[in-house]
Amino acid sequence: MSFLKSTAAAAAILMALPAVSHAQSADAALEMLSRAITYRTVKTGEFGPNQTPQYANFLKDQLVAADFPASAIQIDPIGDTAAFTATWQGSDPSLKPVAIIGHMDVVEADPADWERDPFTPVIENGYIFGRGSVDNKAGLSIVMATIIKLKQAGWQPKRTIILAFSGDEETGMATTRHLAQKHSNVELVLNADGGGGSLDTQHNPTVYSLQGSEKTYADYTLTVTDAGGHSSRPTAGNPIYRLTAGLQRLNDYAFPVSLDEITRGYFTAAAERAQPEIAAAMRALVANDQDQTAIATLVANGNYTGTIRTTCTATMIKGGHAANALPQQAQATVNCRILPGVSTAAIRDQLQEIVADTTIKIEQLDTGTIAAPSSPLREDVVAAVTAAVHSRYPDLAIVPSMSAGATDSMHFRALGIPAYGVGSVFMRSEDSFSHGLNERLPLDNLAPGITHWETLLQQIASK
Ligand SMILES: [Zn+2]
Repeated sequence: MSFLKSTAAAAAILMALPAVSHAQSADAALEMLSRAITYRTVKTGEFGPNQTPQYANFLKDQLVAADFPASAIQIDPIGDTAAFTATWQGSDPSLKPVAIIGHMDVVEADPADWERDPFTPVIENGYIFGRGSVDNKAGLSIVMATIIKLKQAGWQPKRTIILAFSGDEETGMATTRHLAQKHSNVELVLNADGGGGSLDTQHNPTVYSLQGSEKTYADYTLTVTDAGGHSSRPTAGNPIYRLTAGLQRLNDYAFPVSLDEITRGYFTAAAERAQPEIAAAMRALVANDQDQTAIATLVANGNYTGTIRTTCTATMIKGGHAANALPQQAQATVNCRILPGVSTAAIRDQLQEIVADTTIKIEQLDTGTIAAPSSPLREDVVAAVTAAVHSRYPDLAIVPSMSAGATDSMHFRALGIPAYGVGSVFMRSEDSFSHGLNERLPLDNLAPGITHWETLLQQIASK
């Protein structure tokens, strides 16, 4: 496929960029990231107040100091958090804006569990440690440093650039919904929190993932109730048996396989690096996504079930109230990861059919997630991402990807706006501690990250 290799046109645009040293901008990104980590941008709770509004003000100050008018920046308070918008007016009003998105909030971190304080930046052995050092304050700091660098170099976008940073991506996404509605006129969205590169143990790049879709996260409760009674007189209505029989039928069921442009692109590219048997199965599946032999091979060898179909699996169970009583209730929680384009209501109905027992009452829990379609692999985006990645690692494969969970992109895609995870960070799997303890960013991501975003913005916002 054409997007796997850089095009001559993309290379020509890349070479036309002015040769500017990135050292100062990389320092600025590190300074902004260090400051960012000190803000406890987590929902107000036992460890203190939510400092997302303060972090948003800090970001605003950085842009104002770089000569952006204060009037171009808005901080919209929502609950105890905030949504951040900065607009860099383009010279051609006929072009719809491009939005750069990312999130200011981080996952909760209990200092008692961490080796180093999660909200104190610590630089050690080529890493910066701290909650959010990767997810997603690295992305925000690199984007901010790039915008400031471009502004100071006198560059002017033709297409308006909007920075739209959410304040509760890790929880309810109310700020994301707000931002998606506020900026529903944009041409496309580039998400700094999604996509990115992988390194092997020796720090060699293996692949760059261009995230073009996400599965929909949904939780359902399956509940059976009964009058109960004395356990010495068992009845057929026992909720534990009815529930577990239904769950067994769910376990035995495989949702239909379906590929789209993103997952076909993924398997086409992944086949280039897979073992011969797996590679053959991947190619067969791309040719015919109902090829049962290929499906069986990919399910048995490697973890591809989630890539080819919706999955639903039981994650929690509770029931009964006394060892000598028939249960009055049994309840299971089932977590589904739904293929793009399929509604959560359709999956609820399908679950009811699969458990084949109308006494099992199925309800969807409100997790703030909604179904969103895949984004088309636009040529302009693929060319820009290819140029950006190849400026660091020439010839590296750019592979379209669907992620297993939702980011802010979901709310934009749901409105029909194409959104792409195009983050600049390259990591080894052994360095990835996002959401976990001792989250850390390898510092050698900062300078190339600025080149990455500079290339993306210069290409996308110049036409
Ligand atoms: Zn994130």
